Amino acid sequence: MDTNLHSTNSVVTVGKIRFYKINDRIAFFWNALMAYDGFIIDSSNAVFIRSVAREIRGHHQPEIYLKGIFLMGNPELKNRAVYSLIDGFILGEEDLNMAANRAQEYFLRSLDIHTSVPKGVYGSIIKKAFDLLYTRQNKTLSPIRDTHSIIGYNYPELSVSFDENEEPQVLDALEWADKEGLIWPDFQERIYVCTSCSGGFLSFREVCPHCKSSNIDGEDLVHHFPCAYIGPLSDFQLEDSSVLNCPKCNKDLHHIGVDYDKPSVINHCNNCDSIFQDVYVKAKCMNCETDMDVQYLKSRNINSYKLTKKGRQAITKGYSYDGIEEQMDVTLHSMDSFLSLLRYDIIRESRELGDDVLTGIYFENLNDFASQFGEFRRQSLMREIALIVQQRLNDLDYICLEQSNLFWIVIHDVKNIEKALENLVKDIKELIDRNLPSVKLSIIFEYNHLKAVSSADACMIDLKKKMLVE
Ligand SMILES: [Zn+2]
Ligand SMILES: [Zn+2]
Ligand SMILES: [Zn+2]
Repeated sequence: MDTNLHSTNSVVTVGKIRFYKINDRIAFFWNALMAYDGFIIDSSNAVFIRSVAREIRGHHQPEIYLKGIFLMGNPELKNRAVYSLIDGFILGEEDLNMAANRAQEYFLRSLDIHTSVPKGVYGSIIKKAFDLLYTRQNKTLSPIRDTHSIIGYNYPELSVSFDENEEPQVLDALEWADKEGLIWPDFQERIYVCTSCSGGFLSFREVCPHCKSSNIDGEDLVHHFPCAYIGPLSDFQLEDSSVLNCPKCNKDLHHIGVDYDKPSVINHCNNCDSIFQDVYVKAKCMNCETDMDVQYLKSRNINSYKLTKKGRQAITKGYSYDGIEEQMDVTLHSMDSFLSLLRYDIIRESRELGDDVLTGIYFENLNDFASQFGEFRRQSLMREIALIVQQRLNDLDYICLEQSNLFWIVIHDVKNIEKALENLVKDIKELIDRNLPSVKLSIIFEYNHLKAVSSADACMIDLKKKMLVE
């Protein structure tokens, strides 16, 4: 390797691309950094790497936060929270070309980005995360485990905008973007957090119901059948023998279940000396020290989020509704083209890892109402529904309409499909309630994993049977 690579010189040039090299031995100044095409962090110190990378990503100007960050040294770094902030590793001269190419790509993509910011408290933070996703050609905001975050998870593209103890606000920002229709949740985990500070590091303890001390000891309760005496195990233990002996009738105990049993546990508090059967379970917040009864803990969902079509379009076309024409453009496949795509996916699924599903959404009694509100309104309703469905889909997913009351959709790789479909149907119901409040449509959905089906036709027949399609 060229010794030049590790010199303290703070500029590394690859062709036309100029990197600013930051190492933990020399001071640097932020104001001059916009002129560079990317950053190289030359350090093996995880704390330093993390704080510099967070500072770059957390910067308020896209000319800084969208630029590539490359790491020189310590490729064995195991910490995913640090990894997630880095765009690549430079281990030798050849990696400099990779870094230069990526820096160039990020720059070119950043030129597509629309300058508008969504309205709302979290607007600018969401925009920043979306811009990072777009320049990196990434479509998912995924949580990663992170012990620095007070909820134990972070979302790299968003968390950089918050302090580590503000992480619960990241979840609020995501919920907000979900409500705005920009992202679509896919359930990963449920966590319980402090009612006072929303921290997620909780210490669960069994405590005394009287004084709330965790200094308690449990002991088996023994019931001697012949004399009906019940007492703690220690009453039956003799100092010089391993055989249990009854303190009331002085007989030895022989076989559990025959002459005695252990009906429950008795607890003793070493703090207030009280005796009790049931303990309380308390959760102490390791952040703010609030001690709560577990039933009062707040639960939060940790989801990964995919960009919706609306979200993806907003990045390059803006967050206002100027792009309404394009959003109204529903791509419904013909039955024939849908079937050929489906057949292809079934073959592909049988060979590859993946979890695609064929879903049917059936509007059971739509035809009963159609005569009341007319064919035109029926068509525009189905179009609006198709729009909602399509906004929730990814580029690979596809949809068609059979007999004007049955949607077929192929959805790729959604972890919790049941929940995703429930949410989708909920949104469709809300739309119908808004537009046709007097109509009570019954919506049935069923799905099959493509892995488990033999053919497209068999799969559709099976789903129709389950949905009771006439
Ligand atoms: Zn006590
Ligand atoms: Zn006895
Ligand atoms: Zn707390």
